[in-house]
Amino acid sequence: MSHLMETYARLPVTFARGEGVWLWDAQGKRYLDALAGVAVNAIGHCHPKLVAALREQVGTLIHTSNIYHIEAQEKLADKLCELSGMDKVFFCNSGAEANECAIKLARYYGHKKNIDNPAVVVLEKSFHGRTLATLSATGSRKVQAGFEPLVSGFVRVPFDDLEAVRKVAASNKNVVAILAELVQGEGGVCVCSPGYLKGLREICDANGWLLMLDEVQTGIGRTGTMFGFQHYGVTPDVMALAKGLGGGVPIGACVAKGEAAKLFTPGTHGSTFGGTPFACTAALATLEVMESENVCKNATEVGEHIRASLRRALAETPGVKEVRGQGMLNGIELDRPCGELVKTALDKGFLINVTADTVVRFVPPLIMTKSEADQLVGGVAPLIREFLMKPAPAAAAPA
Ligand SMILES: *Cc1c(COP(=O)(O)O)cnc(C)c1O
Repeated sequence: MSHLMETYARLPVTFARGEGVWLWDAQGKRYLDALAGVAVNAIGHCHPKLVAALREQVGTLIHTSNIYHIEAQEKLADKLCELSGMDKVFFCNSGAEANECAIKLARYYGHKKNIDNPAVVVLEKSFHGRTLATLSATGSRKVQAGFEPLVSGFVRVPFDDLEAVRKVAASNKNVVAILAELVQGEGGVCVCSPGYLKGLREICDANGWLLMLDEVQTGIGRTGTMFGFQHYGVTPDVMALAKGLGGGVPIGACVAKGEAAKLFTPGTHGSTFGGTPFACTAALATLEVMESENVCKNATEVGEHIRASLRRALAETPGVKEVRGQGMLNGIELDRPCGELVKTALDKGFLINVTADTVVRFVPPLIMTKSEADQLVGGVAPLIREFLMKPAPAAAAPA
């Protein structure tokens, strides 16, 4: 019996090593990785520049404390602000913590404005993490069930619906911020419409709200620009990052601009491990590779290629509802739950994932080449077609 808590229904495979978009199991079988540790391994497995930087750092200094200055942390904050056009960064260790920091900023901002019960607008089908505040902000009953009482202070509206946000603004004077994903990754790869972010910016400005983006999945090149918001010419007040930032090493960041960047003072927030020399070196090396190897451009081009190839391969396949996505965050929505495809693909040497029950998701390393993408689509599309040709499970007997 395993001594691990049963938080994951694990697939029957253990990987021994990785290189680029490939993983090998203990028996030497090779897998094409279109999951990338759930949108984490942005520059692939064991990129030589990341490995070299970490080897060097491990032999020099791993951890000190935020009680002291940390050179790599200051450099990384400079870099993130230069890339985003924002002002200040708080470092933590995960996406949930980055969102916790954003939520705390929003509440602190509210109390400064003498709002005693500050509320944050959140979206249906959102995913923000598994801590109490972030699961309360998450728009999925599955994530929340059994963990009540939930943290209060969230107001929920439908995704991509500006009118619903305007209605909240008109009726609820406790709202101080909105927290949104521009592509809902866990929610089924739902991409917001082009005018959505600009509309949110206008509503936030008109009402004195903070515009807070959860870019934990969309950030660090995933959608083809370094940050998702850069598609729309609008800058948020607060942005949460994690997943791709450290190239596989745990690190999260909450980036803020303007007033939001000036709220915290010593003692208001903290983290023992946040921004260690080791983690910041990983992120600096990852960003260096992203820039020097034009990884965002590759993510745009190969992502487009993946969507086009999938559409061609699955055209006129009954049961395929839509192929959609942005950059290297792509989904194939089917007309039925398709979780079993993950195991079918694994057996054939492809690592994919299913989200929101009916959406096959591809979030490969951003360095995937067109020819590797062809292998992925060429291998997985037939599995989807075969799956859809099987007779649908018998419907429940009529009552
Ligand atoms: C994965 C994810 C999180 C949670 O990140 P953790 O590192 O697992 O805490 C939060 N928000 C979004 C959008 C995510 O995709």
